[in-house]
Amino acid sequence: MAEARQIQDEMPKAYEPANTEQKWYRFWTERSYFTPEIDPEKKPFVIIMPLPNVTGELHIGHVLYVTLQDIMTRWHRMMGEPALWLPGVDHAGIATQVVVERQLAAEGTDRYQLGREKLLERIYRWTERCRKIITEQHSRLGASCDWSREYFTLDEGPSLAVRTVFVNLYNKGLIYRGERIINWCPRCATALSDLEVEHKDMQGSLWYVRYPFADGDGFITVATTRPETILGDTAVAVNPGDERFKSVIGKKVILPAVNREIEIIADDAVDLEFGTGAVKITPAHDPVDFEVAQRHGLEFINILNPDATMNENAGPYVGMDRYACREAIVADLEKDGLLEKIEPYANAVGHCLRCQTTIEPLVSEQWFVKIEPLVRPAIDAVRDGRITIIPSHFAKVYLNWMENIRDWCISRQIWWGHRIPVWYCRDCGELTVAVDEPETCGKCKSKNIEQDPDMLDTWFSSALVTHSTLGWPGDTEDLRYFYPTSVMETAYDILPFWVARMIMMGLEDVDDIPFHTVYLHGLVRDDTGDKISKVRGNVLDPIDVLEQYGTDALRYSIIAGTSAGTDSKLSVSKLEAGRNFANKLWNATRFVVRSIDGGQAGMDIKKDSLPVEDRWILSRLNRTVSSVDKLLGDFQFSEAQRQIYEFLWSEYCDWYIELAKIRLNSPDKEVPSPLPVLVHVLETALRLLHPCMPFITEELWQNLKRRLPEGWQPTESIMIAPYPEYDTEVIDPEAERIMESIIEIVRSIRNARSQYNVDNSRWVEAQVYAGELEPFITPYSRAMETLARARPVTVYNTGQESQAGENSLVLVLKETEVVIPMESMVDLEAEKKRLEKELERNQTEVGRLESRLQDKAFLEKAPAAVIDKERQKRDTLTDKIERLKQQLLKY
Ligand SMILES: [Zn+2]
Ligand SMILES: [Zn+2]
Repeated sequence: MAEARQIQDEMPKAYEPANTEQKWYRFWTERSYFTPEIDPEKKPFVIIMPLPNVTGELHIGHVLYVTLQDIMTRWHRMMGEPALWLPGVDHAGIATQVVVERQLAAEGTDRYQLGREKLLERIYRWTERCRKIITEQHSRLGASCDWSREYFTLDEGPSLAVRTVFVNLYNKGLIYRGERIINWCPRCATALSDLEVEHKDMQGSLWYVRYPFADGDGFITVATTRPETILGDTAVAVNPGDERFKSVIGKKVILPAVNREIEIIADDAVDLEFGTGAVKITPAHDPVDFEVAQRHGLEFINILNPDATMNENAGPYVGMDRYACREAIVADLEKDGLLEKIEPYANAVGHCLRCQTTIEPLVSEQWFVKIEPLVRPAIDAVRDGRITIIPSHFAKVYLNWMENIRDWCISRQIWWGHRIPVWYCRDCGELTVAVDEPETCGKCKSKNIEQDPDMLDTWFSSALVTHSTLGWPGDTEDLRYFYPTSVMETAYDILPFWVARMIMMGLEDVDDIPFHTVYLHGLVRDDTGDKISKVRGNVLDPIDVLEQYGTDALRYSIIAGTSAGTDSKLSVSKLEAGRNFANKLWNATRFVVRSIDGGQAGMDIKKDSLPVEDRWILSRLNRTVSSVDKLLGDFQFSEAQRQIYEFLWSEYCDWYIELAKIRLNSPDKEVPSPLPVLVHVLETALRLLHPCMPFITEELWQNLKRRLPEGWQPTESIMIAPYPEYDTEVIDPEAERIMESIIEIVRSIRNARSQYNVDNSRWVEAQVYAGELEPFITPYSRAMETLARARPVTVYNTGQESQAGENSLVLVLKETEVVIPMESMVDLEAEKKRLEKELERNQTEVGRLESRLQDKAFLEKAPAAVIDKERQKRDTLTDKIERLKQQLLKY
């Protein structure tokens, strides 16, 4: 055996992440470790990966969710659960089309010139490229997701699910087509849902415009932030309770610019505080006005073309861009004396989330989901605790959003995505809504039918992924076994976009919640707290970072200091800490491995005759195991990682290994070998750390395994080895108490050395008054000498008087006292000379001050303040001289 060990390859001096990582990722995938086995006896652990958009490469923010989900998945897998982490990508409708359209613009063309088919081809090529990059990046990050089940939202399965849901909801009356005010992006030329609009505070103006009465004298003044919409006004409204306008209700006014007659109406929706209290009503371009118009039966006049130029309803302004029209109207109003005043006005203006163009609210015929019946069960699922949201205050955000939700506009006038499964009959006008493409009209059997040209909102398909990716609407084994999933881990900012809709659709389609727990993470910021974004130029490419620091260091640093729902900071110092930790583990393992290769005895731990430090490290290991297990169960990943780090770095490397070295180097053959415990603790702690830092733990674990007796750890990889379990039997409070005291003693001597700048080559002396701990601590006096550079360290019990001379440093610790004679830290002769010299210098100075203060000329001429100052100086120095004399008495 000893010979066999000699021929092992030596571990290289330094850790090189690059080669190691790729080697192990291949090893894992070749053995299909990421694909769970369906075992009806066991409860699976399931995460559906939140879909990265195929809009480009991953950025550092993605590293956070990959790491969090990988930690959870690896942990559950090691606990013996069939663990499925299902990866996929989202076709991301508008977002992707906008990216490709930008490329077209750079080439001097656009989607209209290219045509629908060519554009789709082009987008498809782009998404293929992105998918490849995203997959590659996930692999580099160590993601243990099941690539054999990877999906794309436009695949046949998820597409069938989309059409099935549309038809089901339509048949239940929960999908309808109607005219509503929607958010229109003139650049994308499509409707957007409320969630796709970003509101930005802008400094604009409030124009006060006079509308003359039709019957002659006077006018009523209204205020507006968008004067061009005057062209679409069909009424002026006042609040019925507003005394100022009681007498004008029912009167007619002339609409400026187009000279159309409109009526003054009264409606409760009018805010008395806004502008003059009288407002213009533009039903086709404002959601509030739309509702007012419905109540009063007003006309709807749309004044905009899809590209935000003015249409034929705009009279003299037809064909103008919306902003050119605004200028023209304002100029005309001014000319006609109808512009009363302009005030600066700050308001929130909606912008397209994807292309940042200012959106226009306008009335349009679109497809909607009637949300109310879907919302109730989704609210109940969170209220009654079937679904837990972490952190819990986001449950309020969720409920509040759900209570105020409006019908969901699901049609988009784009070309990339799932097409609406509705066919219109050109002969009878009937709609045919079908899962599979129909050949004829459902009513008159005419073949003259045409599919709706619009696409579905991308979130319509994303809302289904918890079941569409498991085979729904089919009744598949995957669906039966893996649904409902366990955890939905995603960013808090898409709680309403996505999480809420998954809950609604899961309950609707499968009649069960889609997941038990929602874990929300925050944004990743740089070390100054700025959001990481391309605009700020602080984007870190994850591949660059992991090549520089190693993937494990990147994973370590992105988790360190994070908690659910809060933003986290990534800094170079954290990355360095991660890399240092990896190197520390490497060196520690290398030491252990070399000790094994050195041909030490067997690996059995002889539990009944263990030295105190062995009992201590085993006890501490198990306390850490117990605590980490609880923390991971509570989703406290950062704290779990920190505790493993502290245990390995401080207790194992800094103390246990140092103590073990003393035993290994001892010429005394009776001293028991620390090797069995050294190996056992390291191997266990590597498994404990594996979910956080998968690559280096595998590499180190394999280096150990190769050197240990066959069957010692039966699995062929750390990632399928069992997660450490808490063993109460080795908890040893007595060993912990003794070791804590020893560590405290060594630390206090080290601190004293550094406080007195004791040269490294100098040995200090220490007396330890250990009371009742004396018999336990005495055996460690040699070890403490080595660790603290103190010789001799003499341990006394309570019965013995303190030997502290007058010139000693006394350190009072928790249970013991340490006395260090000053002469062992500093050179007494030299110190005496130094003190004498200083005394002499001070005495000369006092003499000089005294003679000055007796000089009559000085006392008469100098200002009182100066004399006072000289007296103070003398007093201070006299005082100091006394103290120096006292100190010198000791020598
Ligand atoms: Zn847009
Ligand atoms: Zn028909």
